[in-house]
Amino acid sequence: MTAPPPMDFPAPGTFFLPGPTEVRPEVLAAMTRPMISHRSKVFEGMFARIQDGLRAVFLTERPVFVSTSSATGFMEGAVRCAPDGPILAVVGGAFGERFAHIGRNCERDVDVLEVPLGRGADPDDVARALGRRRYAAVTVVHSESSTGALTDIRAVAAAATQHGAQCLVDSVTGAAGAELRVDEWGLGFALTGSQKALALPPGLAFGVASAEFIGHAAHARGRGMYFDLAEFEEFAKKNQTPNTPALPLLYALDAQLARVREETIAARWARHRAMAEATHRWAASLGERLPGVGILAPEGERSPTVSAVTLPDGITGDDVVKGAKARGFTVGGGYGPLKGRTFRVGHMGDHTVDGVQRCLDACAEVLAERSGLKH
Ligand SMILES: *Cc1c(COP(=O)(O)O)cnc(C)c1O
Repeated sequence: MTAPPPMDFPAPGTFFLPGPTEVRPEVLAAMTRPMISHRSKVFEGMFARIQDGLRAVFLTERPVFVSTSSATGFMEGAVRCAPDGPILAVVGGAFGERFAHIGRNCERDVDVLEVPLGRGADPDDVARALGRRRYAAVTVVHSESSTGALTDIRAVAAAATQHGAQCLVDSVTGAAGAELRVDEWGLGFALTGSQKALALPPGLAFGVASAEFIGHAAHARGRGMYFDLAEFEEFAKKNQTPNTPALPLLYALDAQLARVREETIAARWARHRAMAEATHRWAASLGERLPGVGILAPEGERSPTVSAVTLPDGITGDDVVKGAKARGFTVGGGYGPLKGRTFRVGHMGDHTVDGVQRCLDACAEVLAERSGLKH
């Protein structure tokens, strides 16, 4: 057997991409357990435990669906299973646009509500748009990972409910990092992926649907098969998945959910808030010496899990990514139209405030060097 060539892997505590995020060695190790039948009692026992753990993440009493796909799979499932009628897509960045794009590709009638880049959606704007036409569903992103903006999902969902529309929420960098209360907020469908704030390897998507949404899903035309959420519901009730799941990823999930439960979801939200606040303080203080450095999203609309940091003229996102890399840290470049003008820090998963601070210190060195500042 020929071994693959040696690769340079990031050292623990240095990987701050806004997804995938760093995974603990013991969670990675859980993936080496032997295969079992996904129609066995052993599996059902594990899946019952997994659903319990995920219910504590989504704050729901409903079954939780686990899909062997990336998060985008459940974005498509949400659209395919939504009741007949036009969809209002709230778009404040690349991932909001992805939801709109999925709608159009699934041959739905999609209207876009544009949100200024870097801002969270204004729930009053959403309510006004919902008043202009009868929509079957609203798609909205909780934490827009391309801009670092957070949307008040509770208020958007209230507007949707008032206008008889299902609220479909991409909480991919929200869930497990930002406050999310699926049942209390009356969400039609909320989804996330394994490789963001849950600090798992990529490859799984998690979702929760309201009973009302599933009532519609069971009759949705063109809902396809792999992302048929009514089928996910049936199987979740038996503690199974419709198809063969990625068992090693479920082993990792089972191990990680025990840790998340031990931390408690409220403490996890608070830790993410603290990591975000450290990033905001860092940007504000560096911005005093280096005008142009700041957080793209305004105060009150900032995601606790990811920040887009604006840059002075003459320094690009790529410069920071490369400079950080040379210092042993991985951060994300700008995304879409913000590519040149920002870089992104994923302060999410199992990281700590101290860990984020070390990464930010390295980024500050890069910025100081690039701009000729003494630090
Ligand atoms: C990462 C991300 C996605 C896409 O997730 P995949 O797992 O790559 O499909 C969707 N929405 C948001 C907000 C994300 O951050």
